[in-house]
Amino acid sequence: MSGRVLVVNAGSSSLKYRLVDVAAGEALAWGLAERVGQPSGRLTHSLPGREPDVVERPLPDHGVALGAALEAFDRSGPRLADAGLVAVAHRVVHGGDRFSAPVRVDDDVLRAVRELATLAPLHNPVNATGIEVARRAFPGLPHVAVFDTAFHATLPPEAYTYAVPPQWARDHGVRRYGFHGTSHAYVSRAAAELLGRPPEEVNTVVLHLGNGASATAVAGGRSVDTSMGMTPLEGLVMGTRSGDVDPAVVAHLHRVAGLGPDDVDRALNSSSGMLALAGTNDLREVHRRIAEGDASAALALDVFCHRVRKYVGAYLAVLGRTDAIAFTGGIGENDPVVRSRSLAGLEPLGIRLDEEANAERVPGARRISAGDGPVAVLVVPTDEELEMARQAVALLEGH
Ligand code: ADP
Repeated sequence: MSGRVLVVNAGSSSLKYRLVDVAAGEALAWGLAERVGQPSGRLTHSLPGREPDVVERPLPDHGVALGAALEAFDRSGPRLADAGLVAVAHRVVHGGDRFSAPVRVDDDVLRAVRELATLAPLHNPVNATGIEVARRAFPGLPHVAVFDTAFHATLPPEAYTYAVPPQWARDHGVRRYGFHGTSHAYVSRAAAELLGRPPEEVNTVVLHLGNGASATAVAGGRSVDTSMGMTPLEGLVMGTRSGDVDPAVVAHLHRVAGLGPDDVDRALNSSSGMLALAGTNDLREVHRRIAEGDASAALALDVFCHRVRKYVGAYLAVLGRTDAIAFTGGIGENDPVVRSRSLAGLEPLGIRLDEEANAERVPGARRISAGDGPVAVLVVPTDEELEMARQAVALLEGH
Protein backbone atom coordinates (compact mmCIF):
# COMPACT_ATOMS: atom_id res chain seq x y z
CA MET A 1 0.00 0.00 0.00
CA SER A 2 1.64 3.26 -1.01
CA GLY A 3 1.04 6.85 -1.91
CA ARG A 4 0.25 10.04 -0.13
CA VAL A 5 -3.22 11.07 0.90
CA LEU A 6 -4.55 14.44 1.96
CA VAL A 7 -6.99 13.77 4.80
CA VAL A 8 -9.64 16.44 5.36
CA ASN A 9 -11.93 16.80 8.36
CA ALA A 10 -14.37 19.70 8.05
CA GLY A 11 -16.09 20.80 11.29
CA SER A 12 -18.70 23.50 11.79
CA SER A 13 -16.14 26.27 12.37
CA SER A 14 -12.91 24.45 11.58
CA LEU A 15 -11.06 22.54 8.90
CA LYS A 16 -8.38 20.03 9.86
CA TYR A 17 -6.07 18.43 7.35
CA ARG A 18 -3.14 16.05 7.30
CA LEU A 19 -0.83 14.92 4.53
CA VAL A 20 -0.16 11.23 5.20
CA ASP A 21 2.47 8.95 3.72
CA VAL A 22 0.63 5.65 3.87
CA ALA A 23 3.58 3.30 3.42
CA ALA A 24 5.62 5.01 6.14
CA GLY A 25 2.56 5.50 8.37
CA GLU A 26 3.67 9.10 8.91
CA ALA A 27 2.25 12.59 8.68
CA LEU A 28 4.32 14.89 6.46
CA ALA A 29 2.32 18.00 7.40
CA TRP A 30 -0.87 18.85 9.21
CA GLY A 31 -2.93 21.88 9.96
CA LEU A 32 -5.96 23.48 11.46
CA ALA A 33 -8.09 26.36 10.23
CA GLU A 34 -10.01 27.79 13.18
CA ARG A 35 -12.96 30.16 13.55
CA VAL A 36 -14.10 29.56 9.98
CA GLY A 37 -17.07 31.83 9.23
CA GLN A 38 -16.25 34.18 12.12
CA PRO A 39 -14.82 37.71 11.89
CA SER A 40 -11.27 36.62 12.79
CA GLY A 41 -9.72 33.32 11.75
CA ARG A 42 -6.41 31.52 12.10
CA LEU A 43 -4.56 28.90 10.11
CA THR A 44 -1.81 26.84 11.73
CA HIS A 45 0.24 24.72 9.33
CA SER A 46 2.69 22.31 10.98
CA LEU A 47 5.59 20.20 9.79
CA PRO A 48 7.55 17.71 11.87
CA GLY A 49 10.39 19.35 13.79
CA ARG A 50 9.65 22.88 12.54
CA GLU A 51 8.02 25.97 13.95
CA PRO A 52 4.41 26.07 12.69
CA ASP A 53 3.41 28.55 9.99
CA VAL A 54 0.61 30.62 11.59
CA VAL A 55 -1.55 33.09 9.69
CA GLU A 56 -4.21 35.21 11.36
CA ARG A 57 -6.86 36.38 8.94
CA PRO A 58 -10.59 36.06 8.40
CA LEU A 59 -11.63 32.72 6.89
CA PRO A 60 -15.22 33.46 5.87
CA ASP A 61 -15.98 29.95 4.60
CA HIS A 62 -14.47 26.47 4.18
CA GLY A 63 -13.39 27.23 0.60
CA VAL A 64 -11.29 30.17 1.79
CA ALA A 65 -9.94 28.05 4.66
CA LEU A 66 -8.81 25.30 2.29
CA GLY A 67 -7.30 27.96 -0.01
CA ALA A 68 -5.31 29.33 2.95
CA ALA A 69 -4.08 25.79 3.72
CA LEU A 70 -2.96 25.28 0.12
CA GLU A 71 -1.08 28.60 0.24
CA ALA A 72 0.66 27.39 3.42
CA PHE A 73 1.70 24.17 1.64
CA ASP A 74 3.16 26.33 -1.16
CA ARG A 75 4.92 28.63 1.30
CA SER A 76 6.21 26.16 3.91
CA GLY A 77 6.03 22.86 2.07
CA PRO A 78 5.76 20.15 1.18
CA ARG A 79 4.67 21.31 -2.28
CA LEU A 80 1.48 19.39 -3.00
CA ALA A 81 2.10 19.41 -6.75
CA ASP A 82 5.20 17.23 -6.20
CA ALA A 83 3.92 15.31 -3.17
CA GLY A 84 2.73 12.23 -5.05
CA LEU A 85 -0.89 12.69 -3.91
CA VAL A 86 -3.08 9.73 -4.86
CA ALA A 87 -6.32 10.73 -3.13
CA VAL A 88 -8.14 13.09 -0.82
CA ALA A 89 -9.89 11.31 2.07
CA HIS A 90 -12.81 13.01 3.81
CA ARG A 91 -14.20 12.30 7.23
CA VAL A 92 -17.98 12.00 7.13
CA VAL A 93 -19.72 11.49 10.43
CA HIS A 94 -22.93 9.70 9.42
CA GLY A 95 -23.22 7.03 6.75
CA GLY A 96 -26.66 5.86 7.93
CA ASP A 97 -27.79 2.51 6.52
CA ARG A 98 -26.36 3.32 3.14
CA PHE A 99 -22.59 3.31 3.68
CA SER A 100 -20.87 0.43 5.44
CA ALA A 101 -17.43 1.08 3.92
CA PRO A 102 -15.46 3.96 2.42
CA VAL A 103 -16.67 5.06 -1.03
CA ARG A 104 -15.30 7.06 -3.89
CA VAL A 105 -17.17 10.36 -4.00
CA ASP A 106 -19.35 11.23 -6.97
CA ASP A 107 -22.35 13.56 -7.19
CA ASP A 108 -24.63 10.77 -6.00
CA VAL A 109 -22.55 10.09 -2.88
CA LEU A 110 -22.36 13.79 -2.11
CA ARG A 111 -26.16 14.04 -2.37
CA ALA A 112 -26.54 11.04 -0.02
CA VAL A 113 -24.17 12.61 2.52
CA ARG A 114 -26.34 15.73 2.48
CA GLU A 115 -29.56 13.72 2.79
CA LEU A 116 -28.17 11.98 5.87
CA ALA A 117 -28.14 15.40 7.54
CA THR A 118 -31.53 14.47 9.01
CA LEU A 119 -29.59 12.05 11.25
CA ALA A 120 -26.53 14.27 11.78
CA PRO A 121 -27.58 17.90 11.32
CA LEU A 122 -24.47 19.29 13.02
CA HIS A 123 -21.97 17.26 11.04
CA ASN A 124 -23.00 15.94 7.63
CA PRO A 125 -23.78 19.28 5.93
CA VAL A 126 -20.38 20.67 6.85
CA ASN A 127 -18.64 17.41 5.89
CA ALA A 128 -20.34 17.73 2.49
CA THR A 129 -19.13 21.32 2.17
CA GLY A 130 -15.58 20.13 2.88
CA ILE A 131 -15.88 17.56 0.09
CA GLU A 132 -17.23 20.18 -2.31
CA VAL A 133 -14.47 22.70 -1.78
CA ALA A 134 -11.75 20.01 -1.96
CA ARG A 135 -13.21 18.56 -5.16
CA ARG A 136 -12.98 22.04 -6.66
CA ALA A 137 -9.37 22.41 -5.47
CA PHE A 138 -8.31 18.90 -6.63
CA PRO A 139 -10.52 18.09 -9.62
CA GLY A 140 -8.09 15.50 -10.97
CA LEU A 141 -7.79 13.37 -7.82
CA PRO A 142 -10.11 10.67 -6.49
CA HIS A 143 -11.97 11.78 -3.36
CA VAL A 144 -12.94 9.12 -0.83
CA ALA A 145 -15.54 9.51 1.93
CA VAL A 146 -14.71 7.60 5.12
CA PHE A 147 -17.64 7.24 7.51
CA ASP A 148 -17.47 7.32 11.32
CA THR A 149 -20.32 4.83 11.40
CA ALA A 150 -18.91 2.29 8.92
CA PHE A 151 -16.92 0.10 11.33
CA HIS A 152 -20.15 -0.52 13.25
CA ALA A 153 -21.98 -1.91 10.21
CA THR A 154 -21.25 -5.37 11.70
CA LEU A 155 -23.39 -4.75 14.81
CA PRO A 156 -25.88 -7.60 15.19
CA PRO A 157 -29.61 -6.72 15.24
CA GLU A 158 -29.89 -7.29 19.00
CA ALA A 159 -27.27 -4.58 19.54
CA TYR A 160 -28.50 -2.04 17.01
CA THR A 161 -32.28 -2.38 17.53
CA TYR A 162 -33.96 -0.02 19.98
CA ALA A 163 -37.08 -1.46 21.59
CA VAL A 164 -39.37 1.19 20.09
CA PRO A 165 -42.21 1.05 17.54
CA PRO A 166 -40.65 -0.62 14.49
CA GLN A 167 -42.00 1.99 12.08
CA TRP A 168 -39.68 4.52 13.75
CA ALA A 169 -36.77 2.43 12.56
CA ARG A 170 -38.30 1.71 9.16
CA ASP A 171 -39.45 5.24 8.32
CA HIS A 172 -37.07 7.43 10.28
CA GLY A 173 -33.82 5.48 10.70
CA VAL A 174 -34.16 5.20 14.48
CA ARG A 175 -31.53 2.60 15.47
CA ARG A 176 -28.01 2.44 16.86
CA TYR A 177 -25.31 3.30 14.31
CA GLY A 178 -22.28 4.04 16.50
CA PHE A 179 -19.47 6.52 15.81
CA HIS A 180 -15.68 6.96 16.22
CA GLY A 181 -15.53 3.87 13.97
CA THR A 182 -12.25 4.82 12.33
CA SER A 183 -10.60 5.09 15.73
CA HIS A 184 -12.13 1.86 17.06
CA ALA A 185 -10.98 0.04 13.90
CA TYR A 186 -7.42 1.37 14.15
CA VAL A 187 -7.08 0.81 17.90
CA SER A 188 -8.54 -2.71 17.95
CA ARG A 189 -6.13 -3.76 15.19
CA ALA A 190 -3.18 -2.07 16.91
CA ALA A 191 -4.15 -3.78 20.20
CA ALA A 192 -4.03 -7.20 18.51
CA GLU A 193 -0.64 -6.28 17.02
CA LEU A 194 0.65 -5.33 20.45
CA LEU A 195 -0.47 -8.73 21.77
CA GLY A 196 1.28 -10.36 18.80
CA ARG A 197 -1.91 -12.05 17.61
CA PRO A 198 -4.06 -11.81 14.47
CA PRO A 199 -7.04 -9.41 14.91
CA GLU A 200 -9.47 -12.23 14.02
CA GLU A 201 -8.49 -14.04 17.22
CA VAL A 202 -8.63 -11.12 19.63
CA ASN A 203 -11.59 -9.72 21.59
CA THR A 204 -11.11 -6.14 22.77
CA VAL A 205 -13.02 -3.46 24.62
CA VAL A 206 -11.90 -0.17 23.09
CA LEU A 207 -12.41 2.93 25.25
CA HIS A 208 -12.09 6.07 23.12
CA LEU A 209 -12.06 8.83 25.75
CA GLY A 210 -11.60 12.29 24.26
CA ASN A 211 -13.87 15.29 24.19
CA GLY A 212 -16.28 12.87 22.56
CA ALA A 213 -16.16 9.43 24.17
CA SER A 214 -17.37 5.98 23.24
CA ALA A 215 -16.78 2.34 24.11
CA THR A 216 -16.89 -0.53 21.62
CA ALA A 217 -16.86 -4.31 22.04
CA VAL A 218 -14.76 -5.70 19.20
CA ALA A 219 -14.92 -9.48 18.64
CA GLY A 220 -12.33 -10.83 16.23
CA GLY A 221 -11.93 -7.47 14.50
CA ARG A 222 -15.69 -6.80 14.20
CA SER A 223 -17.68 -4.26 16.17
CA VAL A 224 -20.43 -6.15 18.04
CA ASP A 225 -21.67 -3.40 20.36
CA THR A 226 -20.94 0.26 20.87
CA SER A 227 -22.06 2.95 23.28
CA MET A 228 -22.98 5.77 20.90
CA GLY A 229 -26.36 5.38 19.29
CA MET A 230 -28.45 6.96 16.55
CA THR A 231 -26.37 10.07 17.26
CA PRO A 232 -23.11 10.56 19.18
CA LEU A 233 -25.09 11.63 22.27
CA GLU A 234 -25.64 8.19 23.83
CA GLY A 235 -23.34 6.28 26.17
CA LEU A 236 -20.37 7.60 28.12
CA VAL A 237 -20.15 10.99 29.82
CA MET A 238 -18.31 13.36 27.47
CA GLY A 239 -16.82 16.86 27.45
CA THR A 240 -20.11 18.60 26.75
CA ARG A 241 -22.50 15.67 26.08
CA SER A 242 -24.51 13.93 28.76
CA GLY A 243 -24.23 10.39 27.44
CA ASP A 244 -27.02 8.13 28.75
CA VAL A 245 -30.02 9.83 30.36
CA ASP A 246 -33.58 8.66 30.75
CA PRO A 247 -35.31 9.74 27.49
CA ALA A 248 -38.31 10.81 29.62
CA VAL A 249 -36.21 13.83 30.66
CA VAL A 250 -37.09 15.51 27.35
CA ALA A 251 -40.86 15.42 27.88
CA HIS A 252 -40.50 16.18 31.59
CA LEU A 253 -38.52 19.36 30.92
CA HIS A 254 -41.05 20.33 28.30
CA ARG A 255 -43.90 19.96 30.78
CA VAL A 256 -42.32 21.46 33.90
CA ALA A 257 -39.91 24.04 32.43
CA GLY A 258 -41.38 24.80 29.00
CA LEU A 259 -38.18 23.74 27.23
CA GLY A 260 -38.67 22.75 23.60
CA PRO A 261 -37.09 19.58 22.18
CA ASP A 262 -34.43 21.63 20.38
CA ASP A 263 -33.50 23.42 23.62
CA VAL A 264 -33.05 20.13 25.44
CA ASP A 265 -31.19 18.58 22.50
CA ARG A 266 -28.79 21.52 22.43
CA ALA A 267 -28.25 21.40 26.19
CA LEU A 268 -27.63 17.63 26.20
CA ASN A 269 -25.08 18.00 23.38
CA SER A 270 -23.34 21.27 24.18
CA SER A 271 -23.73 22.21 27.82
CA SER A 272 -23.88 18.88 29.64
CA GLY A 273 -21.23 16.27 30.45
CA MET A 274 -18.09 17.34 32.31
CA LEU A 275 -18.75 20.98 31.42
CA ALA A 276 -22.06 20.87 33.29
CA LEU A 277 -20.85 18.93 36.32
CA ALA A 278 -17.31 20.31 36.76
CA GLY A 279 -17.58 23.69 35.01
CA THR A 280 -14.92 22.68 32.47
CA ASN A 281 -14.62 19.99 29.82
CA ASP A 282 -10.84 19.75 30.07
CA LEU A 283 -9.84 16.86 32.34
CA ARG A 284 -6.55 18.53 33.21
CA GLU A 285 -8.51 21.44 34.69
CA VAL A 286 -10.88 19.02 36.44
CA HIS A 287 -7.87 17.50 38.25
CA ARG A 288 -6.59 20.97 39.21
CA ARG A 289 -9.96 21.86 40.67
CA ILE A 290 -10.18 18.59 42.59
CA ALA A 291 -6.72 19.29 44.07
CA GLU A 292 -8.10 22.64 45.28
CA GLY A 293 -10.97 20.89 47.05
CA ASP A 294 -13.72 21.46 44.46
CA ALA A 295 -16.48 18.96 45.34
CA SER A 296 -18.36 19.39 42.03
CA ALA A 297 -15.24 18.52 40.05
CA ALA A 298 -14.70 15.45 42.24
CA LEU A 299 -18.28 14.30 41.66
CA ALA A 300 -17.90 14.89 37.90
CA LEU A 301 -14.83 12.65 37.76
CA ASP A 302 -16.66 10.00 39.82
CA VAL A 303 -19.60 10.06 37.41
CA PHE A 304 -17.28 9.90 34.38
CA CYS A 305 -15.28 6.91 35.67
CA HIS A 306 -18.34 5.09 37.00
CA ARG A 307 -19.93 5.26 33.54
CA VAL A 308 -16.77 3.93 31.88
CA ARG A 309 -16.64 1.05 34.41
CA LYS A 310 -20.30 0.21 33.75
CA TYR A 311 -19.66 -0.08 30.01
CA VAL A 312 -16.52 -2.15 30.57
CA GLY A 313 -18.61 -4.58 32.63
CA ALA A 314 -21.33 -4.66 30.00
CA TYR A 315 -18.89 -5.36 27.19
CA LEU A 316 -17.04 -8.06 29.14
CA ALA A 317 -20.43 -9.76 29.28
CA VAL A 318 -21.14 -9.12 25.58
CA LEU A 319 -17.76 -10.54 24.52
CA GLY A 320 -17.70 -13.50 26.92
CA ARG A 321 -13.92 -13.78 26.65
CA THR A 322 -11.99 -10.49 26.62
CA ASP A 323 -8.30 -10.41 25.72
CA ALA A 324 -7.68 -6.69 26.00
CA ILE A 325 -9.05 -3.37 27.17
CA ALA A 326 -7.52 -0.55 25.12
CA PHE A 327 -7.59 3.10 26.21
CA THR A 328 -7.29 5.79 23.54
CA GLY A 329 -8.22 9.47 22.85
CA GLY A 330 -6.91 12.58 24.63
CA ILE A 331 -8.07 11.34 28.03
CA GLY A 332 -7.55 7.61 27.49
CA GLU A 333 -3.97 8.16 26.31
CA ASN A 334 -2.96 10.78 28.87
CA ASP A 335 -4.92 10.40 32.08
CA PRO A 336 -3.65 7.65 34.41
CA VAL A 337 -6.15 8.62 37.12
CA VAL A 338 -9.13 8.03 34.82
CA ARG A 339 -7.68 4.70 33.65
CA SER A 340 -7.05 3.54 37.19
CA ARG A 341 -10.38 4.72 38.61
CA SER A 342 -12.36 3.28 35.69
CA LEU A 343 -10.96 -0.21 36.25
CA ALA A 344 -10.74 -0.11 40.06
CA GLY A 345 -12.27 -3.14 41.75
CA LEU A 346 -12.34 -5.29 38.62
CA GLU A 347 -9.54 -7.63 39.80
CA PRO A 348 -12.01 -10.50 40.28
CA LEU A 349 -12.71 -10.22 36.54
CA GLY A 350 -9.01 -10.65 35.68
CA ILE A 351 -8.30 -6.93 35.27
CA ARG A 352 -5.37 -5.61 37.25
CA LEU A 353 -3.32 -2.50 36.45
CA ASP A 354 0.40 -2.17 37.00
CA GLU A 355 0.07 1.25 38.65
CA GLU A 356 3.68 2.14 37.91
CA ALA A 357 3.33 1.37 34.21
CA ASN A 358 0.00 3.20 34.22
CA ALA A 359 1.56 6.35 35.70
CA GLU A 360 4.45 6.44 33.23
CA ARG A 361 4.18 9.14 30.57
CA VAL A 362 5.69 7.57 27.48
CA PRO A 363 4.59 7.83 23.87
CA GLY A 364 3.43 4.89 21.81
CA ALA A 365 1.28 1.82 22.36
CA ARG A 366 1.99 -0.11 25.56
CA ARG A 367 0.69 -2.56 28.13
CA ILE A 368 -0.22 -1.22 31.57
CA SER A 369 -1.67 -4.34 33.21
CA ALA A 370 0.16 -6.34 35.86
CA GLY A 371 1.69 -9.74 35.10
CA ASP A 372 0.07 -11.82 32.43
CA GLY A 373 -3.51 -11.93 33.65
CA PRO A 374 -6.26 -12.95 31.23
CA VAL A 375 -7.15 -9.37 30.27
CA ALA A 376 -4.32 -7.14 29.01
CA VAL A 377 -4.90 -3.44 29.65
CA LEU A 378 -3.33 -1.30 26.94
CA VAL A 379 -2.81 2.34 26.02
CA VAL A 380 -3.00 2.70 22.24
CA PRO A 381 -2.66 6.20 20.74
CA THR A 382 -5.25 6.49 18.01
CA ASP A 383 -4.43 7.71 14.51
CA GLU A 384 -7.69 8.33 12.69
CA GLU A 385 -6.02 10.18 9.82
CA LEU A 386 -3.63 7.32 9.08
CA GLU A 387 -6.51 4.86 9.23
CA MET A 388 -8.57 7.03 6.85
CA ALA A 389 -5.63 7.34 4.44
CA ARG A 390 -5.07 3.55 4.55
CA GLN A 391 -8.75 2.87 3.92
CA ALA A 392 -8.80 5.31 0.99
CA VAL A 393 -5.75 3.68 -0.62
CA ALA A 394 -7.12 0.18 0.04
CA LEU A 395 -10.36 1.16 -1.71
CA LEU A 396 -8.55 2.63 -4.71
CA GLU A 397 -6.17 -0.33 -4.96
CA GLY A 398 -9.17 -2.67 -4.78
CA HIS A 399 -8.22 -4.55 -1.57
P1 ADP B 1 -11.54 15.11 20.42
O1 ADP B 1 -12.66 14.22 20.86
O2 ADP B 1 -11.93 16.54 20.25
O3 ADP B 1 -10.68 14.52 19.32
P2 ADP B 1 -9.23 14.53 22.08
O4 ADP B 1 -9.21 13.05 21.86
O5 ADP B 1 -8.13 15.34 21.51
O6 ADP B 1 -10.61 15.17 21.71
O7 ADP B 1 -9.28 14.76 23.66
C1 ADP B 1 -9.33 16.07 24.18
C2 ADP B 1 -9.46 15.97 25.68
O8 ADP B 1 -8.39 15.18 26.20
C3 ADP B 1 -9.31 17.32 26.37
O9 ADP B 1 -10.53 17.97 26.45
C4 ADP B 1 -8.78 16.94 27.75
O10 ADP B 1 -9.90 16.73 28.59
C5 ADP B 1 -8.13 15.60 27.53
N1 ADP B 1 -6.66 15.66 27.72
C6 ADP B 1 -5.72 16.05 26.86
N2 ADP B 1 -4.49 15.95 27.41
C7 ADP B 1 -4.66 15.46 28.65
C8 ADP B 1 -3.81 15.15 29.74
N3 ADP B 1 -2.48 15.30 29.65
N4 ADP B 1 -4.36 14.67 30.87
C9 ADP B 1 -5.70 14.51 30.96
N5 ADP B 1 -6.56 14.80 29.98
C10 ADP B 1 -6.06 15.28 28.85
